[in-house]
Amino acid sequence: MVDSMKHGERKRKALQLLAKLGDAHGAPGCEDAVRRIFRDELDENIRTDRTGNIICEKRGTRKHPRVMLAAHMDEVGFVVQNITRAGLIKFAPLGGWWPHTLLAQRVRIRTREGSEIIGVIGAKPPHFLGKGDREQVLELEKMFIDVGAKDEGEVRELFGIRLGDTIVPESAFTLMHNPEFLLCKAFDNRVGVALAIQVVEEMVDIPHPNTVCTVGTVQEEVGVRGAHTAAFSFNPDAAIILEGTPADDIPGIPEEERQGVLGKGVQIRLLDPSAIMNRRFTHYVLDLAQENNILHQVAVRKSGGTDARAIQLYGQGVPTIVLGVPARYIHTHNTIIQINDYLAALELVVILIQRLDKCTVEGFTVFDD
Ligand SMILES: [Zn+2]
Repeated sequence: MVDSMKHGERKRKALQLLAKLGDAHGAPGCEDAVRRIFRDELDENIRTDRTGNIICEKRGTRKHPRVMLAAHMDEVGFVVQNITRAGLIKFAPLGGWWPHTLLAQRVRIRTREGSEIIGVIGAKPPHFLGKGDREQVLELEKMFIDVGAKDEGEVRELFGIRLGDTIVPESAFTLMHNPEFLLCKAFDNRVGVALAIQVVEEMVDIPHPNTVCTVGTVQEEVGVRGAHTAAFSFNPDAAIILEGTPADDIPGIPEEERQGVLGKGVQIRLLDPSAIMNRRFTHYVLDLAQENNILHQVAVRKSGGTDARAIQLYGQGVPTIVLGVPARYIHTHNTIIQINDYLAALELVVILIQRLDKCTVEGFTVFDD
């Protein structure tokens, strides 16, 4: 465990980063605002690749191994699909949404000029619905966004909204009544981005026997697209994926089945349908967490996927692990995390990077026994 002064410092920085990142617009393919924060925070040795991944490479005491820290910058959002003559906006999803969570919610549409227009997701009110309709989940195709405009002309000319403009939830970052709990629209995956930034900032003063490449990836929510080119751009020997993963500590899920519980520490994901994590690497990380008394929980997931899907299969293969901060209600307007889980993840990654030398990393891919 880190001492309390260090803990306090880390927490302050984390809250500042999470607030800034949480409010930023980062629909898939339009991650500019998140990328800008990443760049402003890290400043030196920053480059982007041709899909928009942002990459910060930092050499430690050795050139090899090349360790990649990846966090996707995008969040689930929407895109303007059409504008009706009455000035209502039809929209299509970017990433996985459950329509139940959407009605009457506020959203922000980002125009080409960079202004953010507030709208609300509308649909027929209950007064005009038959009994059958009321009992169903309304399809996304039947919803629209109302930006409060007279007609189509006003939406296009005065507001500057065009087809293809991206849309994200409008939901301000909030400290809850118990300030250990945080609320925002996109902890999936601004927790990962904040962690990545904070790790690099801490590594400035800490020697590490490797080259660390921290990447903010694009378009994860639409099929881990940025992760493919990110792996190519860095050519990693090992990869650590940082994620805001779905919490399951809610009514309806039996206690003994829960593997993502708020307050139970960093989540070490062993497997999901998109990736079986390198066994030696996960065992190594589990032992490390144990030795250092870092609060952690283990998850074997029957659904979901992360950037690990692409990165583990790059080149001859890359030993990969996924470290998560459990977040309740991801892929909605309001997600909740517990700051201590974030801080446990931070502590684990900082220690891990100091340990990943050539011999250790090569050991993850010895299969001749
Ligand atoms: Zn995610």
